[in-house]
Formats: sequence, C-alpha cells, structure tokens
Amino acid sequence: MQLFLEGPGAMAHGDIEKKAGEKFDRVTVYRTLQTFVDKGIIHTIPTADNSIRYALCKDECSEGHHHDHHIHFVCSNCHTTYCLDDVVTPEIKLPKGYSADQVEVVVQGICKDCK
Ligand SMILES: [Zn+2]
Ligand SMILES: [Zn+2]
Ligand SMILES: [Zn+2]
Repeated sequence: MQLFLEGPGAMAHGDIEKKAGEKFDRVTVYRTLQTFVDKGIIHTIPTADNSIRYALCKDECSEGHHHDHHIHFVCSNCHTTYCLDDVVTPEIKLPKGYSADQVEVVVQGICKDCK
C-alpha cells in the first residue's frame, strides 16, 4: 500500500483500487484503507460526485482521533485534490441545539500548477 502514500495530493478510491488491484483484491484494498483511516494515517475527503478520496494525514492524528482541521481544494482543471494544511477550517456558528462533530470545507478553483 506504499504506492499511494508517496503520490502527490489525494487519491481516489478507484485509482488506488486500480493500482493495488494487481496484487490485492477489492475487499483487501477497502479493508486496508479503512484500517489506515482508523489508525489516523489517512483521512477521507468529500467530493462533489460522491466518490471517496483519501489523503495522508499530516497533522497530529492518532488512532481513532483525527485532527485534520484543514480545508481541501479541488482543481477544476486537473481535478487534483489538495490538502491545504495551513488553512484552518473556519468555525461554523450553529443555531442553538445543534452541535457539529465535523466540518468539511472543499474549495473549488484553479490550482497553482494550472495557473
Ligand atoms: Zn487525520
Ligand atoms: Zn490544477
Ligand atoms: Zn486533507
């Protein structure tokens, strides 16, 4: 599974499956990714088309506890998803009675490589 840990940006579940598919079956790939998420090694990124993307955790994530309070950037030209580790998720003010467990911010635009 080393392959995707070395790749730039985030990787789609389908891409990982394709690359790992020669050596591992789908279930193994899925379980391994799930284990990585549980262990705080990678985190999932929400996408507009509902496919799952994964990225390496750079913040201090530990087993069962993620601290990835950064936003994600999706380039509409090359479709690469970036972890913007320096950009902290803005605090969302919720109405009384609501509490947020997780806030996902995905920004869409043109990345620096496509400028
Ligand atoms: Zn994390
Ligand atoms: Zn781009
Ligand atoms: Zn991220």
